[in-house]
Amino acid sequence: MKRLLSNRLVRFASVTAIALIAVALVLDRWVCPLPTEKLSRPPAHFVYSRDGRLLNSFASSDFYWRKPVRLDHISPHLIQCVLASEDRWFRWHPGVNPVSLIKAAIDNARAGEVVRGGSTMTMQIARMIEPKERTVFGKLIEMLRAFQLEWHYSKNELLRIYFNLVPYGGNIEGIGAATHFYFDKEPSQLSWSEAAILTAIPASPNVFRPDLHPKACRKRRDLVLTNLHRLGLLNDSDYRDAEAEEIPVRRLDRPFCAPHLSQTALAVRPNETELHTTIDYNLQRLCERLAANYHGRLQPLGINNLAVVVIDNRSGDLLAMVGSPDFNDTEHHGQIHGALAARSPGSTLKPFVYALGFESGVITPSSRLDDIPVSYAGYAPKNYDEKYHGVVPSAEALIQSFNVPAVNLTARVGLKEFYDLLKAGGLGSLNRKYYQYGLPLVLGACEVTLLDLANLYAALARGGEYRAVREFVDDTLPTGYRLLSTESCYLVSEILANLQRPDLPTSWEFTRDLPTVAWKTGTSYGRKDAWTIGYNPRYTIGVWTGNFSGEGSAYVVGAETAAPLMFEIFNTLTRNQEPTWYDRPPRVRLRDVCTVSGMPPGEYCQSTRQDVYIEGVSSVAVCDVHRGLFVDHHTGYQLCRACLRGKTVDTVVFEQWPARLTAWLIGQNAATSLPEHNPDCRGIIADDAPVIASPEAEAVYELRRGAPREYQKILLKASVSHESKKVHWFLDNELFATCRAGDGVFYLPEPGRHEVMALDDLGRSTTVRFEVR
Ligand SMILES: [Zn+2]
Ligand SMILES: [Zn+2]
Repeated sequence: MKRLLSNRLVRFASVTAIALIAVALVLDRWVCPLPTEKLSRPPAHFVYSRDGRLLNSFASSDFYWRKPVRLDHISPHLIQCVLASEDRWFRWHPGVNPVSLIKAAIDNARAGEVVRGGSTMTMQIARMIEPKERTVFGKLIEMLRAFQLEWHYSKNELLRIYFNLVPYGGNIEGIGAATHFYFDKEPSQLSWSEAAILTAIPASPNVFRPDLHPKACRKRRDLVLTNLHRLGLLNDSDYRDAEAEEIPVRRLDRPFCAPHLSQTALAVRPNETELHTTIDYNLQRLCERLAANYHGRLQPLGINNLAVVVIDNRSGDLLAMVGSPDFNDTEHHGQIHGALAARSPGSTLKPFVYALGFESGVITPSSRLDDIPVSYAGYAPKNYDEKYHGVVPSAEALIQSFNVPAVNLTARVGLKEFYDLLKAGGLGSLNRKYYQYGLPLVLGACEVTLLDLANLYAALARGGEYRAVREFVDDTLPTGYRLLSTESCYLVSEILANLQRPDLPTSWEFTRDLPTVAWKTGTSYGRKDAWTIGYNPRYTIGVWTGNFSGEGSAYVVGAETAAPLMFEIFNTLTRNQEPTWYDRPPRVRLRDVCTVSGMPPGEYCQSTRQDVYIEGVSSVAVCDVHRGLFVDHHTGYQLCRACLRGKTVDTVVFEQWPARLTAWLIGQNAATSLPEHNPDCRGIIADDAPVIASPEAEAVYELRRGAPREYQKILLKASVSHESKKVHWFLDNELFATCRAGDGVFYLPEPGRHEVMALDDLGRSTTVRFEVR
């Protein structure tokens, strides 16, 4: 009988238990599931420098300061403090503590009002995620939620949730933001007094905020400390020390450093609370200060914006970046990030075509480049000073930033090769095809950002190795790749470090204490953008000045408006550092070259000078400008092998430039005419055929619809050697015109493919093909 009863009891109990569990499951799963999404709220964002200093901060999307922390990053002092004050039996109760509930009920009944809640920390979490009226029903829901929370989470998880949700006054939520704003500390490093303050505030954040009500805060803190002492958790001396500690009376100010960089960092990593950038705090501050000062000097000139970038060449780390001189200057669009705005780079791309020229062996620093009128399928580049300089050493052409030699060199090394180099060097804003840019690309007929451009120069500074810029310290160091040879970078750097140059800012002309820096300036068309990029082995510094509005200013000149700031930053940055420069790579060697042609001297060259070259790469062709010619001793006529016999012959040295240059040089009185060829000679000199300057080989002429063809004539022009006086033009195998050497004739274009031949009066000819559409 007894056994039957106990059997029934057991059965009844188990059925009831199963039923209860089923009800609980149904409630938990379907009727009132836990709003878990409310347990973690959107965080605020804190942007740090590489040395761990706060640069800038952004509140969460719902305008709260939250900085989520892990439990093991919270000071044990604080955990002890909060448990002792709020919920001593937290580790043991199932979410609700009946003893404290009953105690609270008795106290409240005695007082006639609600003086205590008797809530556990789990119930407080429930209230924080679903604020309710303080009624009996509200309390019941809270208790239900507390059971649910305990069911879903461990005690440690609940502690972490609690510390990240608890309010600390104003829009500060959670222990991470609270320790930051009240103590400028990490939550792991709290003193007993600080732990007690942080225990005190949440009881009534607006009453106990230390920055607003320090007295009330102190009183409440002391209460917490006394309680800890009474419970034996705090020894006498710690208790005395804690009570003696001051109450912080200010919330930490929010720094406002590197605002543009901070915004873009956040845009890249929108879900991270702590963003650790590669910015060097002191250098960033320095650049911001110098930029603001310098801005004051630019504004009277109608220049309202500037941007600065500093890159560490060794690591590729971005060390400083100024997006505009004043972020809060709304009148001049101060929020625009000038270092990331795509603008026309002016002459700043030129060094890279020279680097290509050096490493392909086409030129050395002394090699002559043409600087005479030239036309590439209708495109006729001009120099800044509207003058031509004949033949110019390439180092000189780069320093003087002449346009025509740079365009000619680009045509020689290959536009596509140049474009590919720029793309591989990280100029991501070049989003058109190379032929859409054409040769003007080298003169800056494109758009680049200051950051990309400076980083391209950093590759030069690194001896040719390209590396993407690193902006976050926790990103792995990007692997680099070779963009240019060390030798050609060395040659370019040596040229760009030359002080004898026109783009030295006027204000620096007499300064001797310039650091050794390779630098290049650039000014865009319409004087809208002025650039200067400078580097040494350690740093690359880029400066852009101009107006975000796109307005030009007569004063916008790279050398005058951008270079001084670049030098100021470089000087300040390297003031206490050992000067550093590049060692000459072993394959860069010295050799004598002809003073006139810059080529290794031949048998007729008159004088030589030293030049650097790349062993095994640079051209070793000897000077072909200085030539010994046979001249008839009596008549002064030039003699060729065919008419040499039986004459008294003198060998005279002449400068003989290639045919394409001769006419122009003679026109400028920059070259002397060679003696006329013996008129009685029947032989033909085989070399030095005419060079057709226009039309260019394989040129395509697009006829403009609607415009009369008379205005679209095509010029036929050729350079011929000295001996030749006339040029005969054959168009599609028929004689079209005859003109004097040096003159041109015009052709009225007919659609179709054509072949044009220039024939000189010594019977030498050259043919090119072109097309009219
Ligand atoms: Zn020579
Ligand atoms: Zn002859």
